Amino acid sequence: MIFLSHNLRAGWRAWPTALCAVTFSLFVATALLYISERKEQALLSESVTTSGWVAYQAQLEYVKTDDALKRAALRPDAEALADVGLRLEILRSRLPLLYGSEDGRMLPEIDALTPVLQRFEIVLDGMIDAMPALESGSAPKEPILKAWSSALAPLGRELQSVLMASVAYNNNLFERERSLSEQPTLVPLALLFLSGSTLIILMLTRARRDREHLRAVEAARRAVTEMERNLRGVVQAAPSAMLVVDPAERAVRFINPAAAEMVHPSLDHPDWTRLIDTSLEEVQIGDDGGMILRIAFAKSGGDVVSLRGSLCPVMWEGRPQMLMVLIDNSRTRDADLQLIQAAKLATLGEMATAIAHELNQPLAVIRMAVANAHRHLDAADAREAVAAKLDRVTTQVNRAKRIIDQVRRYGRQPSGKAATFALRPTLELAAGFVAEQYRACGIRLALQLDVPADLAILGDRDLLEHVIVNLLINARDAFEQRAMARPRTVWLRARLHDQKVLVEVEDMAGGISEEVMAHLFEPFSTTKPAGAGAGLGLSLARSVVRDMNGHIVAENMRNGACITLLLPVARTPATREAA
Ligand code: ADP
Repeated sequence: MIFLSHNLRAGWRAWPTALCAVTFSLFVATALLYISERKEQALLSESVTTSGWVAYQAQLEYVKTDDALKRAALRPDAEALADVGLRLEILRSRLPLLYGSEDGRMLPEIDALTPVLQRFEIVLDGMIDAMPALESGSAPKEPILKAWSSALAPLGRELQSVLMASVAYNNNLFERERSLSEQPTLVPLALLFLSGSTLIILMLTRARRDREHLRAVEAARRAVTEMERNLRGVVQAAPSAMLVVDPAERAVRFINPAAAEMVHPSLDHPDWTRLIDTSLEEVQIGDDGGMILRIAFAKSGGDVVSLRGSLCPVMWEGRPQMLMVLIDNSRTRDADLQLIQAAKLATLGEMATAIAHELNQPLAVIRMAVANAHRHLDAADAREAVAAKLDRVTTQVNRAKRIIDQVRRYGRQPSGKAATFALRPTLELAAGFVAEQYRACGIRLALQLDVPADLAILGDRDLLEHVIVNLLINARDAFEQRAMARPRTVWLRARLHDQKVLVEVEDMAGGISEEVMAHLFEPFSTTKPAGAGAGLGLSLARSVVRDMNGHIVAENMRNGACITLLLPVARTPATREAA
């Protein structure tokens, strides 16, 4: 069926070309026919004039010769005899022209007459030969001349009949020629008419097809307008945020009320440009081939909204645009934040012993310093010795304060607001937070932070610190589960890579098992005993990293696991200037 319709369409496209070829051939044929008819007409008219002329000349010469013979017979003087001689010669010269010349060959039945004419040529030759003797002789000339006239009389009749036949034949030719000249272009005209009609049919058909095409285009245009109106209505009424985006100019063309409420009612607001940039950068292709969006968007006020949605190409006001549908997922994110907070408090609870131990050390030093100060009070150099002890007390108080600050900061409720912050100090704080536990477990924490101290990223600093602490605790737990794993080292690295910053936590504790790896970032996937881990650490880490428009991946290296965070570098005024 498809093949048939394809053939029909191909035939429909081919036939105007074929018609053009036919019309052209007809024009050429018409022209050739016209030229050949003109030629035939010219030939006929020439035949009529020249063949008739030859016969007439011969007959005229016969009449003149016969007249000369008769006049010489009546008065045979030298002049009359000379005239006879001349006429005989002229007549003799005319006869071969009747059958030998091109014009004479056109005479009807000339072939049958040729022997007769040749016989008379011999007769005439005899007469011409006898002329000198006749002119000079004394014998009576009259009977000879009369006999010659009688001998030539049959030639006269033959020539008369040739002339008559020629006249009749020429009449026919003339009739034919006249008919040709009267209707010279009957056939060519018919052909012209035929080819002209074909052309007109061709043009009319084409015009009809063009009209149909135009009607189809107009109908399609109306359908598009109608569709656009419907689409506009649907977009306007939709409860989710919907916007039409011009991807080439990175501009918003249309927003619905939900989108206006979510971002900003004015299309010119810079938040829209930032949203489009982030969306187009973060767009992913789903399993069904559609474009899906999963972005965190920090509004100008600092609030971060977690957005999920999709993108699809549409025609809008006659131009190809993108329709973006977005759902604010922030409630789920708020729940995530609650979970993170709970996880943090759980970590704090778990670390309470280590913290107490850590706090005990400065307290012990303080107690000892105070006791020593008391002992020195009565000594001669009491002032200097007590001052040194008090300095020691101050140092230890500061150390205790740092520990308490860390705990307070870590236990703080996450704000959920995004701001730019320096990455390196955040990583150092996280490392400091677990340092005592690592020391207690005999694990070396190696820091390789190859990024500038002021390199900034965008997000919630407390949350990122929590993610890093969580990764470091996971590495510690892995070592605890495999007591024999060596060397007991964990690397915390940071380096720049292609406008992004890579943060890696790598250990040598044997790696993540295959079953766990398959569901690593899903909630409640844990291998730890009840009470030791809820299986939420990595799933929450993924949502924190996603909210920073970053990615997190886990892989097993030779002797352990490596978790990598890929985070975009924030566009601070300094980096913008550098760019
Ligand atoms: P939890 O720590 O509460 O179990 P996570 O989501 O942080 O939750 O980790 C999930 C699981 O992934 C852990 O129970 C553990 O089996 C595995 N895992 C995480 N990090 C490592 C690591 N560095 N080495 C080995 N296994 C790990």
